[in-house]
Amino acid sequence: MRINGHVHGGHAERDASGKLIPPLKLAWESKELFPEEYKKMTPEEYVEIGKKKHGVERVILLDPPEVTFRLKEIFKDYVIAVPMVDMDNITPEEINSLFKRGAAGIKFIVPSKSYGDDSYFPLYDAIAANHGLAIFHTGFVLLGRFEPGSWDARKSIVDITNMRPSALDRVARAFPDLKIIMAHFGNPWWEEAWKMISSHKNIYADLSGGDTFRRSIDMWKEILAPNGNLDTGAVSKLCFGTDGQSFLPGHYGTPDVYKLYERLFDVLKIPTELQEKVNRGNILKLIEN
Ligand SMILES: [Zn+2]
Repeated sequence: MRINGHVHGGHAERDASGKLIPPLKLAWESKELFPEEYKKMTPEEYVEIGKKKHGVERVILLDPPEVTFRLKEIFKDYVIAVPMVDMDNITPEEINSLFKRGAAGIKFIVPSKSYGDDSYFPLYDAIAANHGLAIFHTGFVLLGRFEPGSWDARKSIVDITNMRPSALDRVARAFPDLKIIMAHFGNPWWEEAWKMISSHKNIYADLSGGDTFRRSIDMWKEILAPNGNLDTGAVSKLCFGTDGQSFLPGHYGTPDVYKLYERLFDVLKIPTELQEKVNRGNILKLIEN
């Protein structure tokens, strides 16, 4: 079994230019998305199929608070709530109240400054004080996703260099006990991402997203098993996570990412106990309070 550490359950329409326009709805409740035969599916049936077909026992949901908590109400324990916030417009008190509502952590994305900027430290303090998990988007962000007019538009144009893996180096130096997952393995700063999980005991990473599986297995071999020697330190810091649409009948995240993990386990001959850590053990440890 595994815990999918990176899923989304929101749904927004796109306008003619490709912008994701408001409002953000629950995919689960967006009737127009459901083919006729799925209309009667219950949350319990959705979860049961996920377990049987994909081996997914639980998921970490990373949508804005209103979507994340609503889906947690519907899907109960299956959902580990890690609401996504706008870190330039949230206070430590608001972070505390998300934990009071049942969050296990907080998801950060598209800051206006580097993740390592001093001005964000009070937010990290608040997460640490709640023994929570901080999930950072790293690397490239979908075009049109946060631009003006989008459902979650930010004031300035996205600067992906604020979300380089190396920005987390300063966070980890300042907060060596803050539990961190670096989502998307830094796409495309793979080397930097490797250095972060290798050097900081509190930084973990997932291989979620739309690009990791498009890189060659040889590249991953080079990073995770240089010269044929498995880097068990780095591999032991990976967490399973797919990204992509979930909470819609038949959708459990990006299928190609499931295949990438399977192939890596196989090609790198990752021992069973390490696979277990990647599949669920690390996440269970990281969400412990
Ligand atoms: Zn995502």
